[in-house]
Amino acid sequence: MNIKFLGAHNCESQNSKFISLLIDDTLVIDAGGLTSSLSFQAQQKLKAILLTHQHYDHIRDVPAIAMNFYLRGTTINIYSTQSVYDALAAHFLNGKLYPKFLEQPQGNPTIKFTIIEPYKTEPVEGYSVLAVKVNHAVPTVGYQITSPDGKIVFYTGDTGPGLASCWQAVSPQLLITEVTATNKYEEFGKETGHLTPSLLKQELTSFQKVKGYLPRVVVVHMNPELEKEIETEIAVVARDLNNSITLASEGMQLYL
Ligand SMILES: [Zn+2]
Ligand SMILES: [Zn+2]
Repeated sequence: MNIKFLGAHNCESQNSKFISLLIDDTLVIDAGGLTSSLSFQAQQKLKAILLTHQHYDHIRDVPAIAMNFYLRGTTINIYSTQSVYDALAAHFLNGKLYPKFLEQPQGNPTIKFTIIEPYKTEPVEGYSVLAVKVNHAVPTVGYQITSPDGKIVFYTGDTGPGLASCWQAVSPQLLITEVTATNKYEEFGKETGHLTPSLLKQELTSFQKVKGYLPRVVVVHMNPELEKEIETEIAVVARDLNNSITLASEGMQLYL
């Protein structure tokens, strides 16, 4: 399994992109920095997009990718929860902001949307996909992806602390999760459903208790303004837990 981090941050600039992960050139999780990271040719290789939740930094490029597929006369599969479908249909692809690609062209809409039920394994383009609820300001699911050759990654999406029940449901070799801010923002993290390095440490300690091991960890969704400090605090957590925890960056690739 090849995982490419197209976007790894919670804010966009010339040097940072919204969240988007590309697996084996065909499967995408979250569409924050998607179209701006891929050539048209690479976009046409995509088979499915999984969305964790409806926040703008995770769905921003859905209309853009839909337009590109529409103009080529092709379709794209998108998987997510009912609440993400509803948000896209009401506020984004509503015929006012952009065409209703969830319904049009009639009879063969550009976006083939499949509602995912949490805790029910779904086959997606040869992969096995399990959606698991996490703790965020709006309904959010993380995705565990198992490749045909048995490689397993779990990406939490945006989440705050309290993931013990989530850990029960997954067994990843690689955990991709979020750390949005530094330790001094712990209260903000708890209120808005985000992690800091110290909150991540608690969650990883809980993971180890529940599962009996710790996977390699890669963090995303950093606030670029706080990234240097986050990196320093994460290094402390990695040392304390004696585990690999690294920050993702745009264009970074991992092989499982
Ligand atoms: Zn969010
Ligand atoms: Zn976000």
